[in-house]
Amino acid sequence: MTKPTILTGIRANSDLTIGNYFGAMLPMIDMAKSRSDECQVNLFIPDLHSFTTPIDHTKLYEQIIHNARVFAAAGLPLDNDNIHIYRQSYITAHSELTWILDCFTGFGEMGRMTQFKDKSSSVGDDRTSVGLFNYPVLMAADILLYNASYVPVGDDQTQHLEFTRDIAERMNARFGELFTVPESVPKQHEFFGKDQGLRIKDLANPNKKMSKSDDSGKGVIFLGDTPGEAVKKIMSATTDDKAEIHFDPANQPGISNLLQILALLRGQQLEETTGEFEGESRYGDFKKVVADEVERFLTDFQAQLTATDDAVILKKLGTSEQAMNEIANETLLRVQRAVGLRPKAE
Ligand code: ATP
Ligand code: MG
Repeated sequence: MTKPTILTGIRANSDLTIGNYFGAMLPMIDMAKSRSDECQVNLFIPDLHSFTTPIDHTKLYEQIIHNARVFAAAGLPLDNDNIHIYRQSYITAHSELTWILDCFTGFGEMGRMTQFKDKSSSVGDDRTSVGLFNYPVLMAADILLYNASYVPVGDDQTQHLEFTRDIAERMNARFGELFTVPESVPKQHEFFGKDQGLRIKDLANPNKKMSKSDDSGKGVIFLGDTPGEAVKKIMSATTDDKAEIHFDPANQPGISNLLQILALLRGQQLEETTGEFEGESRYGDFKKVVADEVERFLTDFQAQLTATDDAVILKKLGTSEQAMNEIANETLLRVQRAVGLRPKAE
């Protein structure tokens, strides 16, 4: 029996944040390490997804390679043959399958995607790209090409995973068994366990999550920030006027967020960190503790990043991409035959 495939990726549109690092990258790497015996693990850099919203294209290629370096610096074992890391655009079947799936996807179906509604509402119709509208279909292709069963998704992506299951079932019902239908969202949660809900908040506005594409970046700690910059952002983080530290996200979102960040940086259980500061009144002193920890984390991480070797990384990307092209092209051919673009199999 072939091993089940786990698939996941992080969009390479800008430098990653500590939210991406602790909320996605570290759990992803832990998962890859712990599951690679029983599963094939596909980690991909969704470079085609990078410009569904405007970006600086002169920086994109470097950003893609940089993200691969970040994976390596964060501890991804590049010498494990069951773990693949690849660039989406190097496997052209993604674009081809997307077009085919597009023609079986309803306009209304895409229009109902809440992420599209959120991201498009602020810019107006003419500045909203068709790519943004269409990107859940590309995401479906990303998953279905590799017969992936398990795709860890945050809340912002569950609707897209449901769509992937729908389009796979629709195509299978019409054309026979073309695709492996990924597991349902509850089954995904069961398989991956906890940690799916972690959300680091923006330091300047702790009522929203920290996001790498945030316009001002004032409340965002990027992995590429100098430790000094990051310290400043922590020290000027928005808190409250209660003058008492409690982990209470509803009433003290800023303080609670800093407690959460500190626990992650120290690798502690949240309760342990919270217990240490509970009831204290000097926010400045507390912020200083968090700032020192952020400074140490970034200094260490950036040293590991500098130590990564591009030749090793490019070799790994190349090997994975070759293997992935084989799998993806097999799926694509099955679909092309089913829809009549290629002669039926003998
Ligand atoms: P963008 O602004 O481009 O949407 P983002 O920071 O929200 O950027 P995504 O590319 O949407 O990042 O998500 C990458 C991964 O990081 C996802 O698994 C997502 O759940 C996770 N993630 C994003 N932001 C946070 C956060 N603030 N805390 C924890 N995890 C996060
Ligand atoms: Mg996001």
